[in-house]
Amino acid sequence: MQKEKGEINFLSATIGGIMIQYDEFGPEIVVNVYNPKLNFHGFLVVDNTALGPGKGGIRMTPSVTIDEVAKLARAMTWKNAIADLPFGGAKSGIAADSKKLTQKKKDEIVRAFAEALRGIVPEQYIAGPDMYMAEHEMAVFAKVLGNKSCTGKPKEMNGIPHELGSTGFGVSIATKIAAEHKGIKIKGAKIAIEGFGNVGTFVAKHLSEAGAKIVCVSDSKGCICNEKGLDYNKLMDVKEKTGSVINYKPGKVLPNKDIVYTDVDILIPAAIPNLIVANDVSRIKAKLIVEASNIPMEPFVEEMLHKKGVLVVPDFVANGGGVISSYVEYIGGNEKEMFKTVEKKITRNTKIVLEHSDAEKLTPRGAALEIAKRRVLEKCKTCRI
Ligand code: NAD
Repeated sequence: MQKEKGEINFLSATIGGIMIQYDEFGPEIVVNVYNPKLNFHGFLVVDNTALGPGKGGIRMTPSVTIDEVAKLARAMTWKNAIADLPFGGAKSGIAADSKKLTQKKKDEIVRAFAEALRGIVPEQYIAGPDMYMAEHEMAVFAKVLGNKSCTGKPKEMNGIPHELGSTGFGVSIATKIAAEHKGIKIKGAKIAIEGFGNVGTFVAKHLSEAGAKIVCVSDSKGCICNEKGLDYNKLMDVKEKTGSVINYKPGKVLPNKDIVYTDVDILIPAAIPNLIVANDVSRIKAKLIVEASNIPMEPFVEEMLHKKGVLVVPDFVANGGGVISSYVEYIGGNEKEMFKTVEKKITRNTKIVLEHSDAEKLTPRGAALEIAKRRVLEKCKTCRI
């Protein structure tokens, strides 16, 4: 970036005592909401709208800050761009403790936050659910600002429910493409899945159906392994009846961290951040890691694995099924169209990223970021190039 003589470079500014970092992409809009009557702070950061209105969820946690929201908004800019959606990046946050609020009070806060964003939503920002914000809260938000103001709404408001498992389905598609790229036959491939929640269960379902052998699965209680394969329906049954996959029989129970070191072809982290650290790299046997969870390892750990010859499909490429589903809801599509669109987009984008990574000798994350930035810059009228 060439700096002109005498040009003032506004790379950071203080808003309400909080330092915001700016760069050539954004953020374009920063809104700081304070409501003394209901006693909450709220933030909206629209990072970049070159590709369309900023899209990103609203999280409600007591500790959320404008800085956290800005970082997540930037992550959404790349995630929506790599998913090839006509959405920019944005995120919002409400600093309140959901666990201490009655539903009535929580609804009042959501309504007041929506009112404060009138004029920005839906032209420049489209909301969605995030931590402690679900279908019900999206319905409350949409009643204030209209059906186009958010996604993740209930079915009766033309929403596409989270329970359909769009993210897990998308991860299974990314896994099949990456396995093919790496020369691993999905039929019979040995797979370990960390986490057996919304994402993990659907990954297990779709990959089992594709003929893969799920040999290890973990949840917060531990890890269950059987090298002959774990039956998906039986796993679901055991999880529902006993609360944990570790009660599956027959199987070997291990501490949950051990899933990282299991002897598998493919490892799929689908639960906690920073699951894999630098010290784990030498013990990892998987040839392919598909990141279903967000930030299961730092980018430098991905680089170490890349050097070791392990293919790592980054989170924002592999777990884009959720935002793609939001897009289908936004344009009024149905469940069938959602699955078709997730499959088409994840297939295409995973292939593009892996080919670019090979051609330019970049890590898959480096390649994906380059493609996402290029897509944004091609359409960006406000970016400084
Ligand atoms: P979830 O709450 O439905 O499930 C989380 C699962 O992780 C549970 O089974 C829990 O028992 C397990 N778990 C917790 N601690 C664990 C540990 N130490 N070891 C192993 N398992 C552990 O959550 P989810 O919606 O499935 O999300 C999982 C991850 O995927 C998160 O990182 C989330 O940010 C990411 N993600 C989710 C979506 C989505 O649409 N749900 C979209 C993109 C990214």
